[in-house]
Amino acid sequence: MRNKIIAGNWKMNLDWQEAMELGNKVAAYVEESTKAEVILAVPFLYIPVLSELTEEQPKISLAAQNCSEYRKGAYTGEVSASMIRSAGAKYVIVGHSERRKYFNEGNDVLAEKVRRVLENDLQPVYCCGETLEERNAANHFDVVTTQLETGLFHVNDDGIDKCIIAYEPVWAIGTGVNASPEQAQEMHHFIRELVKSKYGNHLSDKISILYGGSVTSENAEQLFKCADVDGGLVGGASLKAIEFSEIIDAAS
Ligand code: PEP
Repeated sequence: MRNKIIAGNWKMNLDWQEAMELGNKVAAYVEESTKAEVILAVPFLYIPVLSELTEEQPKISLAAQNCSEYRKGAYTGEVSASMIRSAGAKYVIVGHSERRKYFNEGNDVLAEKVRRVLENDLQPVYCCGETLEERNAANHFDVVTTQLETGLFHVNDDGIDKCIIAYEPVWAIGTGVNASPEQAQEMHHFIRELVKSKYGNHLSDKISILYGGSVTSENAEQLFKCADVDGGLVGGASLKAIEFSEIIDAAS
């Protein structure tokens, strides 16, 4: 059976001291008995120092929130997958809706990023999800299908085996309006079927599909109970130690 995964996406929040405090609090909370794997997607700058903390706590891993589509060279301001790897992270979020919206990252660029991540022995957390307009127009399944087919499904079996998918409906991110467990389960099942049709039963049973969008300690348990929901990608609530701990508990 798939283990639950709770990933906290800190986005562009927390100064150095606040980040260390929150990292330490989460590490102190996660115990031997915690069943879920915890991932902290932190700003690049904090990866090296927080990786010292996660080395002592094997249930917690670090993720970068993005990486360059290029390998190396004259790309001022960019951070490569190989740098992220050498700084101590294990995962990279690729295709978060904020990257798609504010930085114009389309599925083709995201496909390149997935390649960079995998070739550096990192694991992608590949995000997909529709806007409210797309859902209201009943296009949500088509949108997610294209995001996955173009951005992710170019990888081979070994590659997909290392990937996590996060379904994050854009209308639920940061809005306080989460997808209902029924809506989440419907889309997660659909995504698992897509993986099955491309990679077969074994890999579709194995792949973790996380739900993201206004997850809180109040709604986490109901969402995580759904058969195809393997945990959460948590934004705002991951910045509050107690709230995040309760979400980890809901998955354990
Ligand atoms: C996110 O940004 O990935 C996210 C799900 O944010 P929030 O939990 O705040 O909706």
